[in-house]
Amino acid sequence: MQGLKKAMGTSNDTLILTASGSGAMEASVSNFFSMKDKVVVCSAGKFGERWAEMVQAFGLDPIVLTEPYGSVVSPERLAETLGANPDVKGVFIQASETSTGAAHDVEAMAKIIRETPAIFIVDAITGLGTMPLKIDEWGIDICIGGSQKSFMIPPGLAFISVSPKAWAMNSNSCMPRYYFDLKREKKMADKGESSWTPNTSHLIALNVALQYINDLGMDKLIENAQLLAKATRHAAAALDLELFSPNHPGSSVTAIKTPAGMDSGLIVKGFRTHFGAIIANGQGSMQGKIFRMAHLGYFDFADMFAVIAGLELLLQQNGHAVELGKGVAAVQKVYAEVAMRQPVTT
Ligand SMILES: *Cc1c(COP(=O)(O)O)cnc(C)c1O
Repeated sequence: MQGLKKAMGTSNDTLILTASGSGAMEASVSNFFSMKDKVVVCSAGKFGERWAEMVQAFGLDPIVLTEPYGSVVSPERLAETLGANPDVKGVFIQASETSTGAAHDVEAMAKIIRETPAIFIVDAITGLGTMPLKIDEWGIDICIGGSQKSFMIPPGLAFISVSPKAWAMNSNSCMPRYYFDLKREKKMADKGESSWTPNTSHLIALNVALQYINDLGMDKLIENAQLLAKATRHAAAALDLELFSPNHPGSSVTAIKTPAGMDSGLIVKGFRTHFGAIIANGQGSMQGKIFRMAHLGYFDFADMFAVIAGLELLLQQNGHAVELGKGVAAVQKVYAEVAMRQPVTT
């Protein structure tokens, strides 16, 4: 738990729940609010929609700020909404919207929310490890992570940090809760225990992953994901492919549009059958139109060279004119600029 706190870079209480990431999302709804509380949900993708569904399921009264897939909710729009609704108790957002590859301006939003009575709940499940998130400095009241993303271990653990401002709201919250009772969880965690039988095998794996992350440095893990994302964007441009979120690209995944008329499922399937590699299709209405390549966690440039080389072949196979090697060269160029400067030591 100390390793997790260090990796997340916060002095707030940080708890571990036996659940996939959505379990901590649900806990953030059920532990800090009461029915009919007014909240704001920023929604620009499938995970934003999950927030909206969740707060509705628990009887909150959400103002849902929706933006098209690939776009983001702007801090200005949030400021305007909070200005017009001083009774808002919480703001829910995705740091990185994994379904579209876009990233929100969490720092600017935190600055606005900090000045209001509302707490800021950030689903950072793919934000942690791919973008700076200064929980204490910016004022992220609830920061949520999941084991299977940048933490590089199987799904089954969720992480949640809780600020003093959020704990104060917890005291006034009268939402029914039982399994995900964070107050009880904190009491037990302080004794080195957990409320319920913990997922011990995952905790042991997490300990090893956190040693890796903290030895490397969270900032270096973030930098790595950001460089791989940048290289992927350059490769896409070299191959005449359009980004799905050109204006707000995050670094957890890069979502790329397939050329007009080409089903992205062919690229996803091609990776699996030809290269034993897994990339993701679009979700919901984006399915068939985009494919997503991950950068978070244990990926490096050697993976990138291979993935882009495979992509070129699959595009060519499916009728997109490709000059083989052009995308790979774009990745090599980014690597040469940023990483070859470091001398090799023996
Ligand atoms: C993966 C992910 C989740 C959590 O999904 P689970 O299936 O519950 O682990 C939530 N939000 C985002 C942005 C994610 O990428």
